[in-house]
Amino acid sequence: MAKLEYIWLDGYKPTQSLRSKTKIEKDFSGKLEDCPNWSFDGSSTEQAPGGSSDCILKPVFICPDPQRKDGFLVMCEVLDSTGAAHESNGRALIMDDDNDFWFGFEQEYFLWDPKTNKPLGFPEGGYPGPQGPYYCSVGANNAFGRDIVEEHLDVCLEAGLNVEGINAEVAAGQWEFQIFSKGAKDAGDQIWVARYLLERIGESYGVAINWHCKPLGQLDWNGSGMHANFSNTTLRTAASEATFKAICESFRPAVAECIAVYGADNDQRLTGKHETAAITDYSYGVSDRGASIRIPLYSVQKGWSGYLEDRRPNSAADPYKVAAVIIKTVKSAKL
Ligand code: ADP
Ligand code: MN
Ligand code: MN
Ligand code: MN
Repeated sequence: MAKLEYIWLDGYKPTQSLRSKTKIEKDFSGKLEDCPNWSFDGSSTEQAPGGSSDCILKPVFICPDPQRKDGFLVMCEVLDSTGAAHESNGRALIMDDDNDFWFGFEQEYFLWDPKTNKPLGFPEGGYPGPQGPYYCSVGANNAFGRDIVEEHLDVCLEAGLNVEGINAEVAAGQWEFQIFSKGAKDAGDQIWVARYLLERIGESYGVAINWHCKPLGQLDWNGSGMHANFSNTTLRTAASEATFKAICESFRPAVAECIAVYGADNDQRLTGKHETAAITDYSYGVSDRGASIRIPLYSVQKGWSGYLEDRRPNSAADPYKVAAVIIKTVKSAKL
């Protein structure tokens, strides 16, 4: 008996959350094409009215579930009762059938103690020392929750997710993982499955995951981003500063459209401080971590070929919707 965990995104606004339920299948092959469509009560997830509550789960990605006997994780798109993409389905917005676009997302998050309502490492009723020693730190004074982070990394790798790295971040209790894929939909699928695994591992430690982009408010603590590193054939083979600039310029008229899907409350994070550009500005620059879009030194050193980093998407953004708007914008560039 195989246990298939069907995972989907609910319809809550402005931030969608993970939902899942288990389907038992006999003689399961382990293949995506052998995962049947399923349904759920959309009236319990803000996705349908009670009188007509069925929504459809369409499996789109599968991997082994390393923590569950005979388990698989099955990421699903949500369809409405007519079989059309549900309005909450950001994956359906990605227009890149030949997977020309590659994405590397840097997912930041806080490990959060539900008892103190503070990050791990924050003493009850107070604050730890100011930012400085926590980034890429080691030692019990500065690194908090490594056992969770390590377990998550092992489980992601065992599931076959393409994690490229992890690091402790600038705030106490804040961490990051990076996932890369040669395909926008696949990158989004992997980020969501990795988020699911992190949430579930957190359960066993009594630690929550805080995806909010500025959970400590306007105190002097970094917020959490989900930088989107992206390329297409044009960028990867440009050999041209003008091409990079034209693609960067294509984002200028799209600021509002981008910010609309770059995550809730981003005005709290994109202040112009803490390695961010102000939400009202648009800028780009080589190696510039205070810009909206950074041109990595790597791309310049490769003779203006490579990738770009949009630093504005935040930790709670939907990677599907982020990828969809980036692809649309890059395709609009006047080359
Ligand atoms: P930093 O913290 O300096 O911004 P990271 O190493 O955390 O950088 O993340 C850089 C990301 O860029 C990685 O996830 C990597 O996979 C991604 N990346 C590298 N090359 C490309 C490319 N050609 N297209 C898309 N993403 C890329
Ligand atoms: Mn990073
Ligand atoms: Mn980071
Ligand atoms: Mn980055």
